[in-house]
Amino acid sequence: MDAPDEPGIGTVLAHAGSHPRDHWGFVNPPVYRGSTVVFPDVDTMSANAQRYQYGRIRNPSSEALCEAIAGLEQAQGTVLTPSGLSACTFAMLSVLGAGDHFLVPDNVYAPVRDFCDGAARRFGIETTYYDPLIGAGIDALFRPNTRAVFTESPGSHTFELPDLPAIAQAARRRDALVLMDNTWATPLYLKPLVLGVDISILAATKYVAGHSDALLGTVSANSRAWARVAAFHKQLGMHVGPDDITLALRGLRTMELRLQRHQDSALRIARWLERQPQVAKVLHPALESHPQHALWKRDFAGASGVFSFVTAEAPFEAVKAMLDGMDLFALGRSWGGFESLAMTLDPRVIRSATPWTEPGHLVRLQVGLEDADDLIADLSRGLARFQARARGTART
Ligand SMILES: *Cc1c(COP(=O)(O)O)cnc(C)c1O
Repeated sequence: MDAPDEPGIGTVLAHAGSHPRDHWGFVNPPVYRGSTVVFPDVDTMSANAQRYQYGRIRNPSSEALCEAIAGLEQAQGTVLTPSGLSACTFAMLSVLGAGDHFLVPDNVYAPVRDFCDGAARRFGIETTYYDPLIGAGIDALFRPNTRAVFTESPGSHTFELPDLPAIAQAARRRDALVLMDNTWATPLYLKPLVLGVDISILAATKYVAGHSDALLGTVSANSRAWARVAAFHKQLGMHVGPDDITLALRGLRTMELRLQRHQDSALRIARWLERQPQVAKVLHPALESHPQHALWKRDFAGASGVFSFVTAEAPFEAVKAMLDGMDLFALGRSWGGFESLAMTLDPRVIRSATPWTEPGHLVRLQVGLEDADDLIADLSRGLARFQARARGTART
């Protein structure tokens, strides 16, 4: 039998960035702690003619992770930043400057919005928030000084899916770059650069590290953007410690297995929630009921384990009764780890360009690696508390 042309994703993840012969045969690169790197002679030093020159710029740990992520994202290159948020802000500042205009979706990860309204504005970058469902209509929002468009798919908390190729095409006609936060799908389930995006960003804190024990960001760029990303990374002196990189490399090896489990359990729970009377709507792109389900099928190879649902109309006390009493779903803002989490927030207080009109309360779930039956039982008890409190408060 002929060997397949392309190795499968499990094979890729098991070996990406791995060069055992560089480390005496040990399969994992050791944790290289190092600022100083010494040179054998003046000529080598003057010409920078050796593989490593200084710890801040590159070491065997960072090189392994960058090579692995660049391969997965099909990028020309990848740089590391100390958190997912810093990956977003770093990517923006690598391509934007004073006097530039920036387009950002209204459902963007909220701290990115804080940055746009705060530091970016102070640096002379003006942001316009757009309807994530605008598609090719984004063309009307371009100004002569629009240099970049930010995208996130699905949007944080509310899970709308933008038409990425349509937005990318419009941007390319205007000579603007497209950035994308690809944290939810990871490059296993979506390849932004193949769809026309120029810079793909991961909060590797989430599914790459995968164990809630490290913060890390990655920024991967195509040939249009790579020179600027690489130069700005060097100029800023951006650096990530080798321990966090090692945790991310370890997480990467099992990422496909974990994502598969997150995907299966989350979809099962989403379908179960759709049938519960206390639930008005489930916001999960892989559900046939999702308004942009067709885009998900067209662009994505899978779905991860984070989604939201909107409760039936009830006093907020009912949501508190549900979430405060959960056994397995802890209250937490992050996701991508092995453990299940829940949180609630009101999209109305974040948005400025598009209305949020759902009368119920939004609950976001990160479905962890626990057994789905146990998670459903936990949610079932929670929804019973929701209902009891909703009835109780209605009576008083
Ligand atoms: C968590 C998150 C980030 C930020 O990652 P940190 O490592 O926590 O800074 C960025 N984008 C999205 C979509 C996220 O969920």
